[in-house]
Amino acid sequence: MAHHPAHLDTLLQHTGIAEFDPATGAAPVGLPPVRTSTVRFQDLAALERAERRKAAGERVVAYGRMGLDTHVALEDVFKHLEQGTHAYLAPSGLSAITLTFMALLSAGDHALVADNVYGPVHVLEQAVLRRLGIEITYFAPNRDDIAALVRPNTRLLYVESPGSLLFEMLDLPALAEQARRHGLVLASDNTWGSGYIYKPLALGAQVSVVAGTKYVGGHSDLMLGAVVTNDAELAQRINKTQYAMGYSVSADDAWLALRGVRTLPLRMAQHARNALQVCDFLASRPEVARLYHPALPADAGHALWTRDCTGSNGMLSAALRLSMEQARVFVDALRLFSIGYSWGGFESLVQLVAPEYLAGHRYWSGDGQAVVRLHIGLEAPQDLIEDLRQALDRASAV
Ligand SMILES: *Cc1c(COP(=O)(O)O)cnc(C)c1O
Repeated sequence: MAHHPAHLDTLLQHTGIAEFDPATGAAPVGLPPVRTSTVRFQDLAALERAERRKAAGERVVAYGRMGLDTHVALEDVFKHLEQGTHAYLAPSGLSAITLTFMALLSAGDHALVADNVYGPVHVLEQAVLRRLGIEITYFAPNRDDIAALVRPNTRLLYVESPGSLLFEMLDLPALAEQARRHGLVLASDNTWGSGYIYKPLALGAQVSVVAGTKYVGGHSDLMLGAVVTNDAELAQRINKTQYAMGYSVSADDAWLALRGVRTLPLRMAQHARNALQVCDFLASRPEVARLYHPALPADAGHALWTRDCTGSNGMLSAALRLSMEQARVFVDALRLFSIGYSWGGFESLVQLVAPEYLAGHRYWSGDGQAVVRLHIGLEAPQDLIEDLRQALDRASAV
């Protein structure tokens, strides 16, 4: 490209397209999928040049594991999305989280982790980090002053904003200021924002972690993660750890993510519009005690959302004035919402949030109401609303 368009919507359409063939002056629009392959060198001098550049921290391919052109193009996309200088791919969102913890922590270190983070982070702690002598303290990111929790060996402040069960907005700039005061790295899971509607690095975090499986891919057909940073020293640590742990991302998944991300702006806006319409309907129903969706003016995080986000998405949760038995009837009665974890694809999903998931989550007041999490897909919102209406009617009648 001869010039650099400034807007992210433009960059997302022009990053990772094929270069013109100098012989024909022509090129396909879509990057031909370059599968991972063993790399071969013309002579030893070429190999040694590559090794020298790699040792200096450049992204030089000397072996197929880190991927070829398709992967480079997708890394560029994540850098644009997150406004970072370095992006590292991982084979899933969870493995991107694992990469972050393994890169930033050593035996004897301590990390403060927000109590609302993605559930499997607890499994990472219990199954791996504890065994390696890494200690974690969970804290309430909207309440606790971290000063009382920081120890001499605390290195990392790990958060997720908004949380992926109740979508509570965190004051990321304030957390960044606290992290700076105590010399901690602030890392944030940005799967909700996916680099499009929320920018943790611009708000003061040093590391942003994204599950590309969700909105970046957008079609429920790939697993992918990314760790993005704008700190050269942290980038070296992430790079080395990614290498040492042997991470490798399928070229097919990377290519699908590259294709999916072209429509991220359109999809995100439509998910957000549909979700607001569904919220309006749910707010009118007596069975709904409370809605969790930061774009709603009534949401407790709305002021932070207005300050820090440029849009919203299809995620919302509803606390229901229904018994657990009635909530189960409601979920089973839905026809257009599939029961499933995950989100960010084109389709609507519902998850009955297990009360034990909310138990350690101090944002949740825990008044016994059943909570359902909905991902509002790209279906016509009127159809989704009719589906929710009939399911609520059936549940209330129990
Ligand atoms: C889904 C998800 C992850 C993990 O992503 P996978 O690709 O499924 O491993 C991490 N964080 C959040 C907030 C998620 O929703």
